[in-house]
Amino acid sequence: MSSLLTATDLWKSFGDRDVLRGVSLDLSAHDVVAVIGASGSGKSTLLRCLGLLEPIDDGRILLAGSDISDPRVDANGVRARLGVVFQSYNLFPHLTVLGNVTLASRVVHREKRADAEARGLAILERVGLADKAREHPDRLSGGQQQRVAIARAIATDPELLLLDEITSALDPELVGEVLELVRTLAEEGTTILMATHEMGFARDVAHRVLFLDEGRVLEEGSPAEVFGSPREARTRAFLSRFR
Ligand code: ADP
Ligand code: MG
Repeated sequence: MSSLLTATDLWKSFGDRDVLRGVSLDLSAHDVVAVIGASGSGKSTLLRCLGLLEPIDDGRILLAGSDISDPRVDANGVRARLGVVFQSYNLFPHLTVLGNVTLASRVVHREKRADAEARGLAILERVGLADKAREHPDRLSGGQQQRVAIARAIATDPELLLLDEITSALDPELVGEVLELVRTLAEEGTTILMATHEMGFARDVAHRVLFLDEGRVLEEGSPAEVFGSPREARTRAFLSRFR
């Protein structure tokens, strides 16, 4: 199958600290890939580089065959093809839920208000929040806000969803509803690259798992391989913290 996203030998440093040290990965359409690793191993930096939110120092990123790491690329045009959700929901507080979900469709994709709103409502229906469309984000629980952030990310039909520990800031009782939504999107065929500390979820939902260790992909395989019989001692040590 042809690749949707191919990253080759990505390097990134902040000051004298090498944060990504030759990361390569490959995603096909409909892949669901989990990136696991200790705090500080470079997961967020990797996702931010792939989403063109952070420039890489070296390497190459191909999205559907075109080189998006080329400095001459239209970075905003590329970002408009991706959906990104972070740990903090980053919803616009002055906009309604529907306003948040339709903003990119209206501003970036220049969709007509009525069309964007009809589609926005349909997406809110999918994430179970149609009844909150006219509310402002501060009226919603953290789990609901994160579901709105996911709705906003999928509203423009992105080719790839980048999810960066999207349940880490949530109270434990709110994690489930967000993970269930991600599971549904995965089952519907959405292509997802997610950094996560939810090992049970990664094992269940991901097709492939990458263990990032000090800026390198130390181990990669199916969930059964990486969780069930990790090859590397450092992977075993990391996973033992979750048992
Ligand atoms: P993870 O998401 O796996 O916890 P990060 O990618 O956030 O790891 O961070 C990896 C390393 O890069 C950490 O040491 C972090 O302090 C550093 N880092 C991340 N972003 C920046 C930045 N903008 N400026 C300086 N250092 C950064
Ligand atoms: Mg992180």
